[in-house]
Amino acid sequence: MGSIRDLNARKLQREREHQSTASNQLTDIDALTGLPNRRYLINYLQGMFADTQRATKPSAAILFVDLDDFKLINDVMGHEAGNDVLIQVSQRLRSAVRDTDLVVRQGGDEFLVVILDAPRKDPPLTPKAPEEFVRIAQHLANRVIDHLKEPIVIGGQEHHLSASIGISLCPDHGRNASTVIQAADTAMYAAKKQGYGESFLYSIEMFTKRRERLSLKARLRTAIEQEKLALHYQPIVDMNSGRMVATEALVRWPQSSGEIIMPETFVSIAEESGLIKPMGDWVLETAARQLNRWHQAGHMLRMTINLSVHQLYPEGDPDRIAAIVRRYVDPVWVTLEITESVLMIDPTTMERVLNQLHGHGFRIAIDDFGTGYSSLSRLQHLPVQLLKIDRSFVAKLDQADRGAAMIPIIQQMAVSFDLEIIAEGIENRAQYEYLCATDIKLGQGFWFGRPVPASQIRHHQRLPGPGTAP
Ligand code: C2E
Ligand code: MG
Ligand code: MG
Repeated sequence: MGSIRDLNARKLQREREHQSTASNQLTDIDALTGLPNRRYLINYLQGMFADTQRATKPSAAILFVDLDDFKLINDVMGHEAGNDVLIQVSQRLRSAVRDTDLVVRQGGDEFLVVILDAPRKDPPLTPKAPEEFVRIAQHLANRVIDHLKEPIVIGGQEHHLSASIGISLCPDHGRNASTVIQAADTAMYAAKKQGYGESFLYSIEMFTKRRERLSLKARLRTAIEQEKLALHYQPIVDMNSGRMVATEALVRWPQSSGEIIMPETFVSIAEESGLIKPMGDWVLETAARQLNRWHQAGHMLRMTINLSVHQLYPEGDPDRIAAIVRRYVDPVWVTLEITESVLMIDPTTMERVLNQLHGHGFRIAIDDFGTGYSSLSRLQHLPVQLLKIDRSFVAKLDQADRGAAMIPIIQQMAVSFDLEIIAEGIENRAQYEYLCATDIKLGQGFWFGRPVPASQIRHHQRLPGPGTAP
């Protein structure tokens, strides 16, 4: 890290710091990393805007750099390790950019880079075409992402970081400091949504989308408080007999217009905003209460409920989850579905939490199995009883190299680990017959029945099984 470039950068930084008055110096510097802070940045941008009132082409670009999953590093490895990461990141950022670019720590794991369209020295300058400047900014963003990807040593161990970057242009995307920073932030947020380690240029559509999400969040809060969500139930079927043995509870958000908002749209909003806890509690309670009603009526089904990682981590309370369910049914009737990715976050803690849940009687299922990368050896140590084969494999059953190859492998593995398997997303007879032939016992999918309100579950109807036409 101690390259000449780095020294130059530091020297330059010092010169910049000199430019501000002595009394401002301390308040302009981030104590942890020694980089200028947000306050410095605002002054800097305001100065720049005052200079470029005349300009119509982009005269500067702002890169909003945010580490992916930094919170996890902090939670799992402790704040000291987190600070160490931030210091190393700040050094890498400085060495990834040109000396003339400004690198700022805005707070937390957020860094900003400002690049000016024209180098400060060496006139005469020929103005660049706006597209060219955008290309330069994107190139730099990718370089920053690559620099941060290099392995980093924290507490004696190598780790891999990734960062998402949003780019905004001045004055195109705003004519004052906070607007262009906000635009870069919005673009970063869009990049993160796309997956980690990407850079995005700001656009007005992003702004609209984000505003919609914010308003959705506010409405979701009210809907949860007023118990305006609903649960639909989808049959899980014993493929040999065609008998329904369980249902999966799936959350819905009905609108007064009659439209129903699906979980894909709002579960992630609930997760981001902390609303997942009250929502998750409501789902547990409502599904357990429904199961109790069915049991009272003599329909001895199991119930399967989806849990989000945010209900279990960093502070999950297995005892509370059990207490909610136990008011209505013995947890042995309930299977909790979690996704594979959950297990990899912090395997030790997850193992403890899952053991606690299992100790209360819950069965644990891995949802969307095959899409993540949980290793077989990990599964062996976890109290998992069920795998749900992701529907993407079932959908690709007709492609010999994909689903058709994967499913027997998963099946064999499940047998050797003594796990049950459910095939999800069975939509037609061909898929159903194929899966029966591989000796998979449990199935779920539109072929058997779509998710419906509890009142529409038909307990006595045989679902399409061998020799029955749906
Ligand atoms: P999941 O747990 O994998 O649930 C199965 C999803 O596949 C459901 O979508 C279901 O309607 C759909 N599905 C079932 N059979 C078929 C089929 O044959 N073909 C196709 N194309 N799709 C089928 P849904 O209800 O939209 O839920 C999506 C995801 O949202 C769920 O995936 C689950 O991860 C999440 N989710 C749903 N309810 C809850 C909840 O109460 N809490 C949490 N945390 N997540 C939930
Ligand atoms: Mg599920
Ligand atoms: Mg699934």
